[in-house]
Amino acid sequence: TDPAVIRNFCIIAHIDHGKSTLADRMLQITGVVDDRSMRAQYLDRMDIERERGITIKSQAVRLPWDGHVLNMIDTPGHVDFTYEVSRSLQACEGAILLVDAAQGIEAQTLANLYLAMNADLHIIPVLNKIDLPAAQPEKFAEELAGLIGCEPSDVLRVSGKTGEGVRELLDHVVASVPPPVGDADAAARALIFDSVYDTYRGVVTYVRVIDGHLSKRERILMMSTSATHETLEIGVISPEPKPSERGLGVGEVGYLITGVKDVRQSRVGDTVTSAAKSAREMLAGYEHPKPMVFSGLYPIDGDEYPELREALDKLQLNDAALVYEPETSAALGFGFRVGFLGLLHMEIVRERLEREFGLSLISTAPNVVYRVVMEDGSELTVTNPSEFPTGGKIAQVFEPVTKSTILAPAEFIGAIMEICQGRRGQLQGMDYLSEDRVEIRYTLPLGEIIFDFFDQLKSRTRGYASLDYEPAGEAEADLVKVDILLQGEAVDAFSAIVHKDKAYAYGVDMAKKLRELIPRQQFEVPIQAAIGARVIARENIRAIRKDVLAKCYGGDISRKRKLLEKQKEGKKRMKMVGRVEVPQEAFVAALSTD
Ligand code: GDP
Ligand code: MG
Repeated sequence: TDPAVIRNFCIIAHIDHGKSTLADRMLQITGVVDDRSMRAQYLDRMDIERERGITIKSQAVRLPWDGHVLNMIDTPGHVDFTYEVSRSLQACEGAILLVDAAQGIEAQTLANLYLAMNADLHIIPVLNKIDLPAAQPEKFAEELAGLIGCEPSDVLRVSGKTGEGVRELLDHVVASVPPPVGDADAAARALIFDSVYDTYRGVVTYVRVIDGHLSKRERILMMSTSATHETLEIGVISPEPKPSERGLGVGEVGYLITGVKDVRQSRVGDTVTSAAKSAREMLAGYEHPKPMVFSGLYPIDGDEYPELREALDKLQLNDAALVYEPETSAALGFGFRVGFLGLLHMEIVRERLEREFGLSLISTAPNVVYRVVMEDGSELTVTNPSEFPTGGKIAQVFEPVTKSTILAPAEFIGAIMEICQGRRGQLQGMDYLSEDRVEIRYTLPLGEIIFDFFDQLKSRTRGYASLDYEPAGEAEADLVKVDILLQGEAVDAFSAIVHKDKAYAYGVDMAKKLRELIPRQQFEVPIQAAIGARVIARENIRAIRKDVLAKCYGGDISRKRKLLEKQKEGKKRMKMVGRVEVPQEAFVAALSTD
């Protein structure tokens, strides 16, 4: 295909502003999907995406339009998946910045706009959902124009739902997004912007060709690893994969299949070149996404450990951002410490493990990564609170911090500041986007954000505030480890690293919760919360004498035996902490965040 007729663009927006719906209409209007096969969120191919109505993976589709070839990439909007967005941007020359005409600009609108501007993309501002009675196109066109520096009349208006304005938008893409430029005669260079594992075909690698040409049955070279593979199939997606005999040329977006089984062999951000005639320089890739949040994952039934391992291995084939390593807990047995990009990522991984692999899991409370500097100068990285060193030899503890941006109607400034202040936030600045909407910027510890920060923000602002954050290094903080002890023995799964000012509240809360959850035993069980050797809270579970045989009034031997058997069964689901029997449910309940 002549690069002059190619237009590569993506749709970026805050979550729920209508990217996937607009993408649906584009598929329909360009005739790529006929009305009969159309279904909502066509490109959200995972069940979990369709059920939750969110996009997790970016999707690229080729659309014929008016003698041109449009490659459209639908992107996820949630903050955890920003790295997906930034990858997609590098495969494009233009971006449709979509804003809900009833909501206005929100936190990820800004975050995505900045990403697109950094990638030097041509930006097309568009108001969506103009069919809604609550739409305020005049007001928000002005807001949007003010943000990107154009006239309100330059802001297009569409409805992804009814299709109104979508043809005009496609025409506008053709007219305003620059065609790709590249050297057709140079050695091939293609950027891998995604790779997914398919059970039947192995890894499918999505590429954008920058220079040269990639063909079928060609030996290709992955430049970062020097691994070579043969392309078994190469093609475009429209809307399903379509093999192409001609291969892919300058500016084209498509896929290739080499028979490789592991997505890590086909690293996102890597450059593909031809093995026979290799390029000398790699394309600028991406930074590998770093896990920000960790949690322990354990099978409720200890026998399912091998299945859990296998499930994680399989999931990782599709999700290169997922990391894990085996870990053992005295309380929970064998499991894994798993690293995630954020809380939504964590929820999704857990849900996929349970649904797609039929596992029942306990997860420990999420935590961030801490760097601990000891007095002797040695350092350690703590991803599991129970590994936090105890004793007085800690010199400094560092925690990750974020640059957080909150957008909300101005009436909520007070409430927002109160929440942020209560979570050790430092105000960095505040701007009015229009007379009644503000952007508030804070430096906030990541560890504070991962505990229902967003829920609180939503409830205190009646759902009007939106939040975006990005990592901003680390800061020293006064953090301590709180242990929870049963009969003097620490239960590793309940240890937490918290700020000194919140240690007491955490301790009291956990001790109370456990007193409710753990059944009485034959002896008294003290529950203590402690920082090192210092006890900060204490509860007691009083002893009972549980004589199962008392009910049997002597006599019937077989009945007695049955009861004893039953008691033994019950014990199997108990975990022993020292001498204390803790039912599995108590752990599940104590660890569930409500
Ligand atoms: P995404 O998160 O940006 O991909 O948003 P979706 O496309 O999943 O849409 C979010 C919600 O907005 C869904 O309930 C859509 O049905 C609805 N929606 C999207 N576009 C329109 C529109 O143009 N008009 C109306 N009324 N609703 C829309
Ligand atoms: Mg979507």
